[in-house]
Amino acid sequence: MRNSKLVIFIIALIHNFTINNSVAQAPLPPVLEWHGKSEKLIYPKNNPWITPCELSNFTSTPSYKETIDWFSKLCSTSTLLHFVTIGISPEGRAIKMIVASTEKSILASDLKKSSKPLLLVQAGIHSGEIDGKDAGMMLLRDIALGKKKELIDKVNFLFIPILSVDAHERNSAYNRPNQRGPESMGWRTNSQNLNLNRDYTKLDTKELRSVIFVINEYAPLLYMDIHVTDGADYQYDITFGAQNPGYSPAISSWLFKKYTPYLYQKLQAEDHIPGPLMNAYNGTDFKDGNIFYSGGPRFSNEYADLRHLGALLVENHSLKPYKQRVLGTYVLLENTLHLLAENGDALRDSSLKDAARRNNSIPLSWTLPNTSSVENSNHKNDSSTLLTVESKKRHSTIMNSDYVEFTGKKTSTTCVQYTMNSVENYVQRPKAYWIPAACEEVIERLKLHGIKFELLTEAKEVSVDMYRISEYTFGNDEKKVLPFEGRMQVNASTKTEKHKRTFSQGSAYVSTDQPLGDLAIVLLEPGSKDSFFSWGFFHSIFQRTEYIESYVIEPYAKKMLEESPELKKEFELKLKEDAAFAKNPYAILTWFYSKTKYYDANYLLYPVGREM
Ligand SMILES: [Zn+2]
Repeated sequence: MRNSKLVIFIIALIHNFTINNSVAQAPLPPVLEWHGKSEKLIYPKNNPWITPCELSNFTSTPSYKETIDWFSKLCSTSTLLHFVTIGISPEGRAIKMIVASTEKSILASDLKKSSKPLLLVQAGIHSGEIDGKDAGMMLLRDIALGKKKELIDKVNFLFIPILSVDAHERNSAYNRPNQRGPESMGWRTNSQNLNLNRDYTKLDTKELRSVIFVINEYAPLLYMDIHVTDGADYQYDITFGAQNPGYSPAISSWLFKKYTPYLYQKLQAEDHIPGPLMNAYNGTDFKDGNIFYSGGPRFSNEYADLRHLGALLVENHSLKPYKQRVLGTYVLLENTLHLLAENGDALRDSSLKDAARRNNSIPLSWTLPNTSSVENSNHKNDSSTLLTVESKKRHSTIMNSDYVEFTGKKTSTTCVQYTMNSVENYVQRPKAYWIPAACEEVIERLKLHGIKFELLTEAKEVSVDMYRISEYTFGNDEKKVLPFEGRMQVNASTKTEKHKRTFSQGSAYVSTDQPLGDLAIVLLEPGSKDSFFSWGFFHSIFQRTEYIESYVIEPYAKKMLEESPELKKEFELKLKEDAAFAKNPYAILTWFYSKTKYYDANYLLYPVGREM
């Protein structure tokens, strides 16, 4: 009793200590003060159409309900804006989208057919990174009230203010320790603790399915995904890039040669500091270079590249004041609309060109050119001069290691620019895939992606190549077998076998001769880290489910050895060379069983067939 009272007393003391000593905001590197021409976009306090964020002088962001109410009111005052629901979250919230258009019909099927370029912008996929929502509220207001109506004369505009709606309401001042404002913000992962920006291939979440639905139904020409960074300090406030590894070279070329210089110039004209996506090669500062990663099509921009959709990953810099970030996003969105009006046709031509590609070898993953050595000159792509912030190495007495501190002093760093755009492994493009009817979950997800296929109305025998799994490991961590994004991933090596296979009624025939053919290949090849196989949709093939009794195999094995001297030789050699095998009766039983016709022919056989 005494002891438990003491424990309670100590817990209470610790609790008080935590509360009394908690720091209001995590101590961040020095702020780089900013004022710019884009501040003129802000409405005066007495204007009834001031946004909640502007009214707070960019210290706070409105809740889900306030945002929805505000947009509902705005849409009801203007014939140019329409508020539609694109999905329902796990907690039952409507995921809303604003359609800004001068078209007579704003039905998806009509906007898809329209000759005007269509821009799709999504904010709050990571709902703590919510700059896009507050910028979009200001911009759509200016369009709706007529001040900037001309922005949608030649372009149709879709805007999702909050994608991760449930996480947006997991609101706290303590959600993003490396971010300067707003004072309270949403959470990174959704209410199922899943990261929506890892879900583009497996499509487990309702939120992501809503976005893919919009992409399929409306067919945007350009797609923007707005985030806020973590990581190193530097001078840029708005960074963006396509970071595309190379499934859509014509689109990438337009983004790089046309979009980027145009937007850099427009942002600079408003006193913003645009820059490339920044990821310190050494993980701390830019002394050893900047790297454009390829993490695979589980990420928005790489998924878009794979399906030949122009896309931009926008990463506003977390250490910049919220006002600067929101205004920079406004300028970015406004001028993206301008550029699409002027030059959307060129992007459309590029998109059509990429969608018509049917390359024979399809990359499954990308790496740095010549990874044998960081020092190897071939490994380095380009050198560039970046607008950085001075960093100093310090020693941490708490962690007992060195760390980098940013001083707030502006500087520049000339360093290597690495890009993961070299093919790591690839497959030959098959003519088609055959997916058994039993894999209904996979067929359903191909449909969600918008991939076209035919369902067999009667059983059919086909000659196909199939993969037999040889080696495999589960989990994303070599030491501990851990799930990732709610799934146990699998890494496997395979051997190809030729089969005559009967696919039953309801099986899917997926031709790769379609605009989403490359996407189908990456989703269906087990060697791809973003395939359904790697995400764990085929785990049942790892289980052998029929058995043989020892009283059956014993006389059977004896007979087999008598009848086949080769088998006898093989068995004796195995006993001699594999001590563990020789001591394991079950392994011996299984060895003989596997050589009988009774053995399960489907064990470790990936059931999707490739027609070459
Ligand atoms: Zn993010």
